[in-house]
Amino acid sequence: MRRIPFVDLKAQFAEEREALMPVVESCLATGAWVGGEAVERLETDLAARCGRAHAVALNSGTDALILGLKALGIGPGDEVITAPNSFIASAGAIIAVGAVPVFADVRPDQNIDPDAVAAAITPRTRAIMPVHLTGRVADMDAVTAIAARHNLAVVEDAAQSFGARYRGRPAGSFGHVGCFSAHPLKNLNAAGDAGFAVTDDAALAERLRRLRSHGLADRNSAPEWGLVSRMDALQAAILSFRLTRLADVIERRRANAALYRRHLAAFNAPCRDHEFNTFHLFVIQADDRDGLRSFLAEQGIATAIHYPIPIHLQPAAAGLGYGPGAFPECERQAARILSLPIHQFLPPEDIDFVCDGIIRFMAAQGAS
Ligand SMILES: *Cc1c(COP(=O)(O)O)cnc(C)c1O
Repeated sequence: MRRIPFVDLKAQFAEEREALMPVVESCLATGAWVGGEAVERLETDLAARCGRAHAVALNSGTDALILGLKALGIGPGDEVITAPNSFIASAGAIIAVGAVPVFADVRPDQNIDPDAVAAAITPRTRAIMPVHLTGRVADMDAVTAIAARHNLAVVEDAAQSFGARYRGRPAGSFGHVGCFSAHPLKNLNAAGDAGFAVTDDAALAERLRRLRSHGLADRNSAPEWGLVSRMDALQAAILSFRLTRLADVIERRRANAALYRRHLAAFNAPCRDHEFNTFHLFVIQADDRDGLRSFLAEQGIATAIHYPIPIHLQPAAAGLGYGPGAFPECERQAARILSLPIHQFLPPEDIDFVCDGIIRFMAAQGAS
């Protein structure tokens, strides 16, 4: 039977092995395994790609969010508005700094609804954390206008969207700080955990550098308490190497999305002219999502759900006081969304096979 995996990281390594191993070896040979030139070079490249003055390499996207909030002075007593349909880490980062996540519902394109953001503002609101879900930038004209009107910080959760653009501007270039993940499952991926934050604010960048390294301003003086959230030099070297190939990865994913959309456009949120989407995920919606998922699994097609339980309905969030029905669009999508394989190693025949399975399932549903 044909087997179509959801991701194929072994294929990624096989493709890059010959060129990558010398990079790994020369990084190890420097003996600079924390910090140093490999990290600095990556930071310069990442800042440039995001159109920002500074990038700070960190150990994960989650820590980029946590330290981004902390560096902005957000903490106990503060509220941060974010999307309930994100990965758990968005709200988790807000909790980690002692602030309160306040959710705003999403639009059919799965990104935060600016009208819902405006309605969620209270005197305690300090920041908005839009999430650029699936590789599509949220409606940042509207979000930044609301933030400016209410004097709020904007922390972009761009973990899924490195390289995506909105009206020509890259993800991460809209907020006070843009936070990215380089987790193995993201489009720009390390060989382990990694992340980074970008900003135009030199003082904010300096504070992020302190916070990632014990709060130390230099070897001996600590103006404040910090953590150990540095990116390993080895991961930085691997990311610099993979950055040179990222445009190709994104093009292959976009080509796959275009193939899917030929057959499945009716089930996938449309791409707008002002968006350049990087398709970290390709999500369709179906009435009988679970039935479709089982049917595809029987044909050897792996799928995933991002995410089946909205954050406000997670047991961890019980104390926040939300219940079922609080965010109807988010909850409706959670029951309907299905992520199809879209990785860069997927051959067109496999995409045809997936589409064929979905169309057959949908037709049988319609007929019954
Ligand atoms: C992956 C992800 C994160 C967390 O990134 P890590 O590097 O795994 O810590 C945060 N938010 C979103 C939307 C993500 O997809």
